[in-house]
Amino acid sequence: MQRCDVLIVGAGPTGLVLALWLNAQGIQVRIIDQALEPGTTSRALAVQARTLELYQQLDLAQAVLDQGHTVAAINLWVKGEAVAHLPFARIGEGLTRYSFLEIFPQDEHERLLIDRLQAQGISVERGVTLRGLVDQGDQVLAQLQGRDGRMQSCATRYLAGCDGARSTVRNALGTGFPGGTYQQVFYVADVLGQGPAFNGELHVDLDEADFLAVFPLAGSGRARLIGTVRDERAARADSLQFEDISRRAIDHLKVQVDQLNWFSTYHVHHRVTEQFRQGRAFLLGDAAHIHSPAGGQGMNTGIGDAINLAWKLASVLKDQADESLLDSYEQERIGFARQLVATTDRVFTFATAQGPMADLLRTRLAPLLIPRALALGPVREWLFRTVSQLTLNYRQSALSDGVAGHVHGGDRLPWVAVEGRDNFTPLNTIEWQVHVYGDADESVRSVCQAEGLRLHVFNWQAAYGQAGFAQDAVYLVRPDGYVALAAGDHQAVTLTDYLARSPRRGVGL
Ligand SMILES: Cc1cc2nc3c(=O)[nH]c(=O)nc-3n(C[C@H](O)[C@H](O)[C@H](O)COP(=O)(O)OP(=O)(O)OC[C@H]3O[C@@H](n4cnc5c(N)ncnc54)[C@H](O)[C@@H]3O)c2cc1C
Repeated sequence: MQRCDVLIVGAGPTGLVLALWLNAQGIQVRIIDQALEPGTTSRALAVQARTLELYQQLDLAQAVLDQGHTVAAINLWVKGEAVAHLPFARIGEGLTRYSFLEIFPQDEHERLLIDRLQAQGISVERGVTLRGLVDQGDQVLAQLQGRDGRMQSCATRYLAGCDGARSTVRNALGTGFPGGTYQQVFYVADVLGQGPAFNGELHVDLDEADFLAVFPLAGSGRARLIGTVRDERAARADSLQFEDISRRAIDHLKVQVDQLNWFSTYHVHHRVTEQFRQGRAFLLGDAAHIHSPAGGQGMNTGIGDAINLAWKLASVLKDQADESLLDSYEQERIGFARQLVATTDRVFTFATAQGPMADLLRTRLAPLLIPRALALGPVREWLFRTVSQLTLNYRQSALSDGVAGHVHGGDRLPWVAVEGRDNFTPLNTIEWQVHVYGDADESVRSVCQAEGLRLHVFNWQAAYGQAGFAQDAVYLVRPDGYVALAAGDHQAVTLTDYLARSPRRGVGL
């Protein structure tokens, strides 16, 4: 019988990030995957700004930027002409260090995560399949099948189901996967080619004929085509070849394909499981939620699940928090997953709707209205904050309390850079901490000292006020960079009171 603290089932991006974040906090993990090799296809491309911010904690963000590609602009095409050019290079300026749209293919991304894990002495156990599990109350007994076919048992204190859309863990827990499947069939093709759509920018065809987007990949002449398959060909999607897909949209964008590196068709589902936690087992990533790729949210949401759960599991396993802390994982993540399914559903439905009205909206109104709307600062900011997941907050969580300035308990800590100093640098350590923008009074300092909380004091500047902070207020920040408590008045008492009733216990998490 093998034993571990956390058994991670599945070494896609979700499982790999969970392993990295748990290991960084000193938790012993085992990570298995039924596949003999890591994935070799590009799949999810966008790495959102919030993911990059969280990647700073393990010094991963720069590696993604070094290997990835920054999208300078988005172009909308109608009837063979580029009708709108939307500059994107610094769309989120002033909101984050990562104020742009970054593309990094999933296979290369996974390789980076695997290499980091390996450097820390952890290898993914390949060819090992979870066949079943029994929650025994104080541990989970997992039945694993090795590549030689032999069964073995593993006793683990917690089990993380990061095993994708067809999750064995979800089936074993019986938490269901309600939702549906869209009629349209999508294709993806990674190609080498030529033409105006290969200029390193993103190109979207809005024509009535087909939907097609051309995503730039790092390296000249490389791109990903994502399009819809319509008419009778959709019925034979599984046997479809690149040659079978409609040339119309491709011709509209003047795409000349010289070499096809990967082609796949897929049905898009929209589903969220009913429970993200059952006893000692958790569901994360595609095992818990799937939706249309519109907006590049899927993989990033799985990574967000992993980072949300990792610090909570680490705190409980190190006896620094009560087990009830783990309840907040589902509470914080399931609402976002449901909202995401609903919003991506609306975007997807608009992008693929058929009929004269939908065509008119897409081909006439959208090219006129979208550039005008994006020329407005507040619209640009709203769009960037939403897509990059900077807006994601846990205000409804039982862990969140108070409001000071415009910052609520549960918000992502607003990012501010002043004279080259950035208030996110202290977040590189995965720990609870207190931020004060202005002066921290003696009583606040004493509480921090007594509780083993690092206190970061930033001399007041107008920029902090513009970002929403209140002068001299206390912001208790969680290990994942979200504000737990915002206290504007009676700061020391409010902080002491919060700490006394929070599931966090002990000194120096
Ligand atoms: C063709 C295609 C195109 C896509 N394009 C996009 C896109 O453009 N944008 C986007 O955002 N997303 C896209 N996606 C979705 C994206 O790939 C997923 O959101 C992402 O992979 C989810 O990561 P994950 O780690 O949660 O799950 P997965 O990546 O699915 O990883 C699950 C892992 O679990 C393993 N596993 C499964 N069952 C078991 C078991 N019983 N025992 C052990 N191991 C097991 C699997 O082998 C797999 O490695 C695409 C997906 C596909 C298939």
